[in-house]
Amino acid sequence: MTHKILIVEDEENIAEVLIAYSQQQGFSTEYFNSGKGVVNFVKHNPVDLILLDLMLPEVDGITVCKEIRAFSSVPIIMVTAKSEEIDKLEGLNLGADDYICKPFSPKEVIARIQAVLRRVNKPTANIIRQSGFEVHKEDYVALLNGKDIGFTAVEFKIFLLFLSQAGRVFTREDIINTLYNQALDMSDRNIDNHIKNIRKKINQVEEGLNPISAVYGVGYKFKAT
Ligand code: CA
Repeated sequence: MTHKILIVEDEENIAEVLIAYSQQQGFSTEYFNSGKGVVNFVKHNPVDLILLDLMLPEVDGITVCKEIRAFSSVPIIMVTAKSEEIDKLEGLNLGADDYICKPFSPKEVIARIQAVLRRVNKPTANIIRQSGFEVHKEDYVALLNGKDIGFTAVEFKIFLLFLSQAGRVFTREDIINTLYNQALDMSDRNIDNHIKNIRKKINQVEEGLNPISAVYGVGYKFKAT
């Protein structure tokens, strides 16, 4: 996959070198020589990383960074001419992923770009993606087609159990054991009610979708689609 790097830099000789090195590494590039129009461009054209100079004509790098962060988590590497500025920039919590100080070697810039891309594209073990669902284990959030399903903690745990082993049939007792603390006085009927609510909430996001099926006399399972 070709990564697209957006280079925002008003010093044309520096920009030329960055573009040449980026393309040599197999990246495709877009280029702006001022901050004007950058935010609008990013809104309509997906890029994989932005190399953003701080001091720019018309709209400065801090403003551009803030405005992009308002709608996008695209990786941003900020470029500054003064090393003292890096502390100040970090203090502003702009949400940049890395900072580079001029003068730099183009090789160093490429290495930083690759490091940020590796970090950002690393698959996270805490997220399960399956059949249109995206489950964030630590945050207790389950999304369907990008939309929060709105599970309660108990519903979330039950759904996570199903999703983490799609196709396997779980008995009501398996489910109660998973819930542990919350299930001290939980009956089979409680479990059935939770399943009913899980199905209802999934249906509120996508009508007619029913990935959890009952296995008669045994329990329930998740059907991958
Ligand atoms: Ca500049």
